[in-house]
Order: sequence, then structure tokens, then C-alpha cells
Amino acid sequence: MSTNPIIPYAFHPKKKQNAKPTVVINNFCELLGLELPETRVSVSYCRCKHCPDMPTVKESVCCIDVQEATSKWAKNWKKFVDETDKCYSSHHVFQKIINDELDLDHFIQIDRMHLKQIANLTRSVYVDEYIAAEKNDMYRFACYRKTTYLVHDIMGIGKRVQLPACIVGAIRNKYPSKSETYKGYEEFFGED
Ligand SMILES: [Zn+2]
Ligand SMILES: [Zn+2]
Repeated sequence: MSTNPIIPYAFHPKKKQNAKPTVVINNFCELLGLELPETRVSVSYCRCKHCPDMPTVKESVCCIDVQEATSKWAKNWKKFVDETDKCYSSHHVFQKIINDELDLDHFIQIDRMHLKQIANLTRSVYVDEYIAAEKNDMYRFACYRKTTYLVHDIMGIGKRVQLPACIVGAIRNKYPSKSETYKGYEEFFGED
């Protein structure tokens, strides 16, 4: 009698050993089209001198990184700023987006209708993200959405694409949160 017990489906456990771990820290930055190193948060990533410290690796993206990247999102930015060599946050069109409150009010009105329509079309529950907050929170959200819309020509609620950190920083400086807490990753909307 053999002392070796029969091990049914022996190949399956072997295959599992090569399986990916269930928790994967994903530092893939859609904006740059690159996987960013984990050490990025702790090192000084900014070269334009206007990026604040960001809580996550993915959000730690300087406009100069965008300038050097070749992703379609980076190309959209380069088209938007028209080969400027200054920090993206000082670009006159972006400055107009964040400083013209009347225009932002108008944008919010249209964006609300648009988000309602998307919710209807996709049969999902409509949540008015503009209503929940302080006025500054509302304007900050509108600036993220409007910038994304004008740079990438998209207004979806699907995949999120990061904004350069100096852009996020300029919006936060203009419309600071009273509690000084900022929703992580709130600033990115987009779809393929
Ligand atoms: Zn920077
Ligand atoms: Zn910059």
C-alpha cells in the first residue's frame, strides 16, 4: 500500500501560489499613464514650486510631470496650456475658471442638470453633490469639474483622472475648506 495519499487537483494549489496578492497597492496614475513609485509622497516631487504636499502617490503629480508625459490626458493638458513654460496653475484660462464666480454659478446650474440626466439615463440615484456643502466646497467642486471639462472635453461620472497638484492647490487656496479637510480624489472625473 502506498504511503502517499492521493492529492486531488494538485495543480490548482500550485497555480494559486503564483496568484497575485489580494491587496494590491495601485499607484498607477492615469494622468501620466505611469505607475508611480511608493516613495513619491515622501520626496519632493514638485518642480514648478506650486504643488502642495498631497496625501497619496497618485495625486502627487506636478505640471512638469504632465509636460513630460505622453498619455492622452497629458496631451490634452499640453493642448490646453498651449506650450507654456510657466506653471499650469498660472495659466490665464485656468485663472479665469477659478476667479469668475458668476461663470462658476452658471456652470453649476448646467452641470447639475447634466448630472441629473446621467443619473436618469443610467438609472442610478441622483445625488446633488453641489448642495451638501459650504459655498467654498461647492465652488471647489465646480472648479475641479469645469477644469476637467475644458481640458479633456468630458463631463462623465466614470473613471477618474487626476488633476496636477498645483491646479488642485490653486483651487484649494482660492476656495479653502472651513474644516481644512479635503475629500481625497474628489477632483477627478472622466471616462474613456
Ligand atoms: Zn509642481
Ligand atoms: Zn505647476
